[in-house]
Amino acid sequence: MTRHFSTPSSASVLPHAAVTDAVKRGYARYTRQSGAWLKGYEQRGGRVFCGAGCFGCCNMPIRVSLAEALITAQALTDTEAARMEAHARAVLANARSAPDDDTYVDRHRREVGYCPLLNRESGSCSRYDVRPTRCRDTFSALPARYCAAETWDDMPRREREEYRREVARTPGTDGEVHYIAPLEHLSEPVWAAAAKAMRQQWGLEAWGDFWVLTTLARDAAFMAQIGRGDARGAWKVAQSRGLAHSTVLEFGWA
Ligand code: SF4
Ligand code: SF4
Repeated sequence: MTRHFSTPSSASVLPHAAVTDAVKRGYARYTRQSGAWLKGYEQRGGRVFCGAGCFGCCNMPIRVSLAEALITAQALTDTEAARMEAHARAVLANARSAPDDDTYVDRHRREVGYCPLLNRESGSCSRYDVRPTRCRDTFSALPARYCAAETWDDMPRREREEYRREVARTPGTDGEVHYIAPLEHLSEPVWAAAAKAMRQQWGLEAWGDFWVLTTLARDAAFMAQIGRGDARGAWKVAQSRGLAHSTVLEFGWA
């Protein structure tokens, strides 16, 4: 897979190592465990359709912890950060106007569009090493066309029924959709490690949209409030940046 890296500009992003290290250890563990699971799955005849240049899933909404967003934020150049913020603003506009969750997701995929970290020429993730959990644990047991937003909507009824039968007989799926369920379950300890580290270090948890949180993770005023465990103060900073909405930013307390 071709990757394109430019010089990071993370000087403004405070390290928060106790939080990010817990997630990085989780990522490393997930890579080992998912690799071992995949090896066994393929030996048993299972097939994974994900591969280099495949990016149909990169226009899905992504939920992350602030701990994960910090890891991505620290690796970005100023130019990449600006593109992430522009995307975050499109996410916000969708969150403010979507009448329900289904519309929010559908519009995200069709109108907000692909993640700005996607290199459309090569079809690869330009920040593969710091991509969030959801990008790590999404694997398809059926061809990539089933991951595309348009496919399902445009699928005739007969083909939908065939899809359902195919999913039901494909090992590794949950019987409902074509993604490989055990590889999603294997990432649960990463979410748990992020939650625990945030509570221990900050006395709160922050979760939300990938692009919004990555943008806020680079905001010193926002992170100062987080460091004080002040969710209300952090929300106000997000509000002043035009990046606060309950769909894309939420807090939990210890
Ligand atoms: S989940 Fe689907 S679109 Fe994404 S890499 Fe795998 S096959 Fe391709
Ligand atoms: S971070 Fe990378 S893998 Fe994840 S959505 Fe963006 S381009 Fe795709």
